[in-house]
Amino acid sequence: MPVTRRLWAPITFVTIALAACKGTEPFVPVATTLHVAPSSLSFTSLGATRQVVAVVLDQRADTIKHASVVWSSDNSGVATVSAVGLVTAVGNGSAHAVATSGGLSAQVTVSVQAAAQLIKAAGDGQTGLTGYALNIAPAVVVRDAASFPVPNVAVTFAVASGGGSVTGANATTGSDGVATVGSWTVQLGTNTLTATASGSGITGNPVTLAATGVSAAYHIDVRYLTAVTHAQREAFDSAAAQWERLIYGDVPDEFASFPAGTCGPGTPVINETIDDIIIFVQLDSIDGPGKTLGQAGPCLIRDPGFQPGVGVMHFDTADVAGLLAAGKFDEVVRHEMGHVLGFGTVWQSLGLVPGAGGTDPHFIGAQATAAFDRNGGQPYSVGAKVPVENCCGLGTQDSHWRETVFATELMTGFLNSGVPNPLSVITTAAMGDLGYVVNYAASEPYTVANVAGLRAQASFSQIELGDDILRLPILVVDRRGKVTRIIRPK
Ligand SMILES: [Zn+2]
Repeated sequence: MPVTRRLWAPITFVTIALAACKGTEPFVPVATTLHVAPSSLSFTSLGATRQVVAVVLDQRADTIKHASVVWSSDNSGVATVSAVGLVTAVGNGSAHAVATSGGLSAQVTVSVQAAAQLIKAAGDGQTGLTGYALNIAPAVVVRDAASFPVPNVAVTFAVASGGGSVTGANATTGSDGVATVGSWTVQLGTNTLTATASGSGITGNPVTLAATGVSAAYHIDVRYLTAVTHAQREAFDSAAAQWERLIYGDVPDEFASFPAGTCGPGTPVINETIDDIIIFVQLDSIDGPGKTLGQAGPCLIRDPGFQPGVGVMHFDTADVAGLLAAGKFDEVVRHEMGHVLGFGTVWQSLGLVPGAGGTDPHFIGAQATAAFDRNGGQPYSVGAKVPVENCCGLGTQDSHWRETVFATELMTGFLNSGVPNPLSVITTAAMGDLGYVVNYAASEPYTVANVAGLRAQASFSQIELGDDILRLPILVVDRRGKVTRIIRPK
């Protein structure tokens, strides 16, 4: 390098001259000063690189060749620097590329101000149940002119119209350039939300996202065929109300005309337009205390769509009093109502459970799979997702979540005593996979219990729901009430 040569030529001369003159000890260079060049860098696009140079000088201001210099960045979210001083712009903001050599240090000021664009990334145009957070939290992405994501941009979400509310209003873009609001709860009608990125030079800022809030429109008509006590009735009313918050979209009306007994012994004539489901409830003797607590399932499902229109819930009175006393009847009723609505009962007709009857039956609905991953199931690797029960006989296997993985979740084949059995968003999402319009936010908090898929040491006793799927012939009925197919029980 010419610069180095010019520096070194006179230095060599001076050193020799001094040595010759004094005839004493040779000069020992000591690292005295660390210079960096240039002293500042400015970037206008992400991913761009610039080389910086560090020079170590001795006490005579001469360059020390091959001096060891270590580079580092004090804000790697803005700029990174390689071992040889190559600086890369990563995100908007300020940083320093710091050089150190022994006890010496010097820094290059790095400024990154990439021209950027704010774009909708997720959650625009949703419909949701009034008073609840939307299923998908809205998100925006910041990209620079070369379409690289821009991290570390502060984004503020604010309700612009409709009267809803947000949580997590202040977000920051991640390494993927995406910022997501915590949640957006909508009110009836049109709702809008703005996302505003901080900083200058950002086009498309702010972004406006829209959503529509609607009223609950799915109706569960519970009809008691036997006498029920107030406490028993409360459990059914509460279960129906909860399922009507989880499934809120109307399904098409269905005309049905069938003789008494079509949905099993003791069931009445059906001759009406069904909106949206009729559930016949029978409380009588099944098999004495223990064993089967109840059985439930649909007896008429829609074609097209496969959403049930009529179903039956049958409970053994020998067990109901004990369940009420234990505070578990509510959970049993919610669980069995889930079967009537299609959980585990129409899965196979819809081709949603590959591996049924084998060692790894699994539910392949897209919504449930995503919800499983979001709620602790992402690392699950001992089988295919989402694991469905592979044991314990007809009525349990292939129609519940797998107990060894899900443990306390409501829709396994076992209720856990002494702890809540939450109806998780994974179950709600699975109902969405059946074609229902569902509201994730009415689900109960739950994290996948045993993602390793190993049976945990039992820490609470279980109530086995046993053979709880009512196996009736299921009539598949078109809009005009014509039977197009009969699904026979296995
Ligand atoms: Zn069940």
